[in-house]
Amino acid sequence: VISLRGATKQFGGLVAVDNMDFDVTEHEVKGLIGPNGSGKSTTLNLISGALTPSDGEIVLRGTPITGLPAKDIARLGVSRTFQLVRLLPSMTVLENVMAGAVFGHRRRWGRAAEQHAMAILEKVGMARQARAHFSQLTYIDTKRVELARALAGEPEVLLLDEWLAGLNPTELQAGIELIHALRDEGRTIILVEHVMDAIRSLCDSCVVMSSGKKIAEGTPEEVLSDPDVVRAYLGDEDA
Ligand code: ATP
Ligand code: MG
Repeated sequence: VISLRGATKQFGGLVAVDNMDFDVTEHEVKGLIGPNGSGKSTTLNLISGALTPSDGEIVLRGTPITGLPAKDIARLGVSRTFQLVRLLPSMTVLENVMAGAVFGHRRRWGRAAEQHAMAILEKVGMARQARAHFSQLTYIDTKRVELARALAGEPEVLLLDEWLAGLNPTELQAGIELIHALRDEGRTIILVEHVMDAIRSLCDSCVVMSSGKKIAEGTPEEVLSDPDVVRAYLGDEDA
């Protein structure tokens, strides 16, 4: 569904993403893992159009999307959540999710957008808070709403940037179940994650990054037992 070919992002002298190549096939859950600062979020930003690559190419179902504006990439079928939740505080939960339907891949307007948004809120367990505002929500609920907004456009590819981070153990279990349900629906997902249990149980395959480069790719079992990967993690103060 999506391919990166030599995708590179430089910030001044820093090569945050260095010549990344990987393919994500339909219905695949691809883990993108690696120590802090290894370039995972930057890679998602290149795919979603939040950042323009310095070099390389990104192709979605045969269509080059390299450097297109984020709104065009969303329209073509890539939706995402952010490492730091980004909801519009002036809008209700429902309005935020409707925005996902209006600006997403399969667009809906008006009543159709509202009905679709409500159905998605039901799915993520947020239907009862449809009229609430951002400031009234718990942290996990803001994450649920952001996921609902990403799903509302019916994307071909869903990018999740540490969606499980910062949850307590009970919330984490519920969060993993929610992503499992998306997986069971056959969604194509790129999952940036530090939670190893989630990586092991959810990912078909993983790309491991270190200092902007891909250092390994394979099943979770394969990459997590790879000595280079273990070394990359041990070299990271925050791991
Ligand atoms: P984490 O696990 O902590 O979220 P990450 O793998 O997502 O890390 P990135 O956020 O992609 O890492 O950052 C990769 C590198 O690029 C880091 O050294 C970071 O400081 C740098 N970087 C990221 N965004 C920018 C930016 N907008 N300007 C300059 N440098 C940046
Ligand atoms: Mg990140």
